[in-house]
Amino acid sequence: MSTTLSIIKPDATARNLTGSINARLEQAGLRIIAQKRLQLTRAQAEKFYEVHKEKAFYDSLCEYMSSAPIVVQILSGENAVAKNRDIMGATNPANAEIGTIRRDFGQSIEHNAIHGSDSSENAELEIRFFFSKLEIIE
Ligand code: ADP
Ligand code: MG
Repeated sequence: MSTTLSIIKPDATARNLTGSINARLEQAGLRIIAQKRLQLTRAQAEKFYEVHKEKAFYDSLCEYMSSAPIVVQILSGENAVAKNRDIMGATNPANAEIGTIRRDFGQSIEHNAIHGSDSSENAELEIRFFFSKLEIIE
């Protein structure tokens, strides 16, 4: 069993898609073991996406991610990081496989409905960014 960080992004919470997206995650065998809804400040979004600070889309991404509420959650399961990335689909919904969350719910390469950690190292860092040990009920 391993864990990963998942975020239902502002475009998805705004369209009332949290439940529909989480149904996909649960149907695939991932378990939500911690969850909260919050709105990032611009500074918090900048910190979370610091690895992308040299990218052309960084400013726009941070503006977008702090524009409306998000749902942050920890997913647990076998190969949780890779499994979650599979179910999410490619970054650009237009390139994502049929049946993936981003293909079905994403609007654009930026407004792509969901975030998932890309490695177990980053999953640990991202989980620590949002959750204390007390908030994680295995
Ligand atoms: P992923 O979320 O699939 O791991 P990245 O880590 O490369 O993708 O990018 C982080 C987020 O930044 C993406 O999910 C998306 O919201 C946004 N993004 C990535 N590439 C672009 C781009 N070329 N233009 C605009 N936004 C982008
Ligand atoms: Mg990424």
